[in-house]
Amino acid sequence: MSDQTVEYFPTTRPWREKDGRLSLIGMTCAHCGTRAFPAREVCSGCGRDDRLEEVELDSAGTLYTFSEVHVGPKGFPTPYVIGYVDLDAGVRVLAQINGTAADLKVGERVTAHVGPIRQRGDGTDVISYRFGRSA
Ligand SMILES: [Zn+2]
Repeated sequence: MSDQTVEYFPTTRPWREKDGRLSLIGMTCAHCGTRAFPAREVCSGCGRDDRLEEVELDSAGTLYTFSEVHVGPKGFPTPYVIGYVDLDAGVRVLAQINGTAADLKVGERVTAHVGPIRQRGDGTDVISYRFGRSA
């Protein structure tokens, strides 16, 4: 894929791929240890806004809950599944989940990868992190 035919969301691409494994780039608070993804301007644990440091979070986790969307925003082909994943790194992440609600089970192991989450009106794929069943 070339950058002319795709767009990334968010444009900051808060992820890194190494040896086929995706890490999500979040933040950790040096005051209280709270971690978050995506990174935040203010710590949700202690409310401070200084000493928030970048942290690389391994994307392996457990599917906490999910829902199948049948009427979505423009550009989101339906049906699709959205869910919360509890990363082993201690952060809950909202993202699209591969598969259908009938295929998925709460508590199953999932891992993030980069792939299309929707399509713009001109046909450009919008690429982001999403989760799928761990191999
Ligand atoms: Zn904090």
